[in-house]
Amino acid sequence: MTVDEMYQKMKRMLGDVVPDFELRYKAKLAVEINQLKKEKNAVILGHNYMEPALFHSVPDYAGDSLELSRKAAQTDADIIVFCGVKFMAETAKILNPTKTVLIPSMKAGCSLAESITAADVRALRQKFPGVPVVTYVNTYADVKAESDICCTSGNAVAVVESLGTDTVIFLPDEYLAGNVARITGKRIIFPTLTPGEKVDELDYQLIGWRGRCEVHEKFTVQDIQNVRAQFPDVVILSHPECSPEVVAASDFSGSTSAMIKYVEQTDAPRYLLLTECAMGDNIAAANPDKNMLRLCSVRCPHMNQITLEDTLKALQNIQYVVDVPKDIRVRAVQAVERMLTIG
Ligand code: SF4
Repeated sequence: MTVDEMYQKMKRMLGDVVPDFELRYKAKLAVEINQLKKEKNAVILGHNYMEPALFHSVPDYAGDSLELSRKAAQTDADIIVFCGVKFMAETAKILNPTKTVLIPSMKAGCSLAESITAADVRALRQKFPGVPVVTYVNTYADVKAESDICCTSGNAVAVVESLGTDTVIFLPDEYLAGNVARITGKRIIFPTLTPGEKVDELDYQLIGWRGRCEVHEKFTVQDIQNVRAQFPDVVILSHPECSPEVVAASDFSGSTSAMIKYVEQTDAPRYLLLTECAMGDNIAAANPDKNMLRLCSVRCPHMNQITLEDTLKALQNIQYVVDVPKDIRVRAVQAVERMLTIG
């Protein structure tokens, strides 16, 4: 595809959300990236939270973490460039130990992944012996290695139910755990403790951790009430990393891909997505006939690190290589592959 053809394609999708001079500049970068991709037999995986010009130009596959984990497991490319955050690139490496996995910026972290360590998981196992550990994929490889099974926001309930146990340790997202508890009817405790907090440890079913996504924790029930007061016909979709109160006040809750499908398959007068704001732009670009409201002050600072410029440098210089030590990888892969069999 020539630069002009790429520019025309991007303009059709993004003409309403990205200024024209920026589209021309980004179309040139995108064409260079796509050429290098071919030369180096690379594949680009793009998370739904990538900025619109990147999202609609260079990924071979776009999706949520679960879909991208599956693509990472199936690719026969030599190089995987992960346009997402570090824990996602690590998951790709765990599933593809012989391939080169690159992330365009080493600054792309995650508040959830940073909220818990492998030592924390071992301490919980000691405190609750025999209780299976489910960890959200938004964790680093050493934490996955201490887990029995991973989950994403799209399959968390199915994963918890697949275990068939009365009690589950569910880490590290406090709000996702609360939402899973609500759906499964399990009672949740947090043994790590606000001083003075009392728990009846004989009556727990889901054991959580106080990690939060710094983006989704910002949405409030008051935001929902304000938007509904102004737009009574709005349909509100929230990600399960939002608080259980926000999820309960929404019309639909699901993973990023479930939200995209919901918008595509319904016909509401207008939608509000309570999630990372680039995703609202991406859905709006793909569904120009749909009316999307924005609460766009909430951009993930980690996802925001990934740019077309750095993606080009990643392929030019083969940087930054993501590695997972073998002793961690062989344990983590069991938890990830077990998740992939659940769906
Ligand atoms: S949106 Fe939240 S969960 Fe996703 S990478 Fe950013 S901080 Fe982590």
